[in-house]
Amino acid sequence: MTKEAIHPLSKTVIIVGAGFYGSVLAERFANDLNWRVLLIEKRNHIGGNCWSCPDPDTGIDVHVYGPHIFHTHRERVWKYINRFTAFNNYRHTVWATRKGKVYPLPFGLAAINLLLGKRLSPAEAQAWVQAEVDKEAITDPQNLEEKALSLIGRTLYEAFVKEYTEKHWGRLATELPAYIITRLPVRYNYNLGYYNDPWEGIPVDGYGRLFERMLKHPNIEIQLNTDFCDIRSSLPAHDLLIYSGPIDQYFDYKHGRLGWRSVRFEREVLDMNDFQGTSVMNECDGSVPHTRTHEFKHFTPERSFDRTVIFRETSFEPKPGDDVYYPVRAEADMAIRAKYQEEAAREHTKVVFGGRLGAYAYFDMDDSIGTALDKYDELKRKLTSSADA
Ligand SMILES: Cc1cc2nc3c(=O)[nH]c(=O)nc-3n(C[C@H](O)[C@H](O)[C@H](O)COP(=O)(O)OP(=O)(O)OC[C@H]3O[C@@H](n4cnc5c(N)ncnc54)[C@H](O)[C@@H]3O)c2cc1C
Repeated sequence: MTKEAIHPLSKTVIIVGAGFYGSVLAERFANDLNWRVLLIEKRNHIGGNCWSCPDPDTGIDVHVYGPHIFHTHRERVWKYINRFTAFNNYRHTVWATRKGKVYPLPFGLAAINLLLGKRLSPAEAQAWVQAEVDKEAITDPQNLEEKALSLIGRTLYEAFVKEYTEKHWGRLATELPAYIITRLPVRYNYNLGYYNDPWEGIPVDGYGRLFERMLKHPNIEIQLNTDFCDIRSSLPAHDLLIYSGPIDQYFDYKHGRLGWRSVRFEREVLDMNDFQGTSVMNECDGSVPHTRTHEFKHFTPERSFDRTVIFRETSFEPKPGDDVYYPVRAEADMAIRAKYQEEAAREHTKVVFGGRLGAYAYFDMDDSIGTALDKYDELKRKLTSSADA
């Protein structure tokens, strides 16, 4: 057999960030193109924000950076991810506490009827919401509050959206831009499923094992605890760089810092079988400092544990160096992002930017995986056609 026929490891890609975006590309370059991959990750583990691992006290698989429910409508992503894990039958529901009472979200017949103490039919509930919206008479909403009122009216907005949103973003709803909300779907039925996607579940042995399987390949070298910024001047020789860290950081913040909102989690182990009876409870009252409470054992109802572990999630304004979670995407941020994107376009032959931090966008997991697979197809086409030429 000639050397060419066994595709010698002649090329190297350096990938920054071991979240889904970076890990999918690492797996594809190693398995499909037989490239050598150097995966650089600043944390002490792979998996990015989707990482999960067994809680040291209870053994329950905890999602270290907040609850992650896998759901997708993309068949390609579903087939791809199932190569590395099986999923359980978990179906996500969200409940919300408000003034001592519990309601199911998103807004549907159950929440409306519980709130009003009535038994409205689907048509009656729809007419009630429409009347609430008409009362506001807002045609050109100027801020988040006006946008929400124009979509669902005042009663639902004040009960479930206003205080929660203000806690989450740390600003008054009248100071937040309208575009943060594109829609506030109201379901006129008793379907409590949070997602509408055909595929949903939690990896049976956790996200941690999923990532370990994905990245287990002799061509993939993983360098943890390594910040790209600290080693960028001494990178080993490479043919391509894929960067899924923050785009403003890559360009040394020369056009300014992009705005993000962060969350922190307070962990508590409880000597009881079940704390709240569900995985995620939203806290709608402004007087409660945290936004949500997560109880991870409910993600794996097929497993049993004597004790439980909960995380209380609180939002805060990050300082430089803090982990970032939700892009603010205010007008000023988007203007800064456009400048970085222009710079990135000039580097496109050497560096590929992607993932939620590289794109400065909110991605669900299937968006990160889907965009990585699409990017891989595009790169493979270019790389193999330039090699053929
Ligand atoms: C609280 C919360 C809950 C969520 N829940 C869901 C959910 O239920 N379902 C769902 O589909 N999605 C959910 N998501 C979205 C999900 O987390 C993202 O889709 C996913 O993390 C994106 O993967 P990524 O690879 O783009 O980014 P990340 O997972 O953030 O990975 C980027 C990696 O790059 C590393 N990095 C950054 N800078 C550097 C550097 N300079 N040098 C080296 N490494 C660096 C980071 O440490 C990180 O590991 C949630 C997000 C949040 C914030």
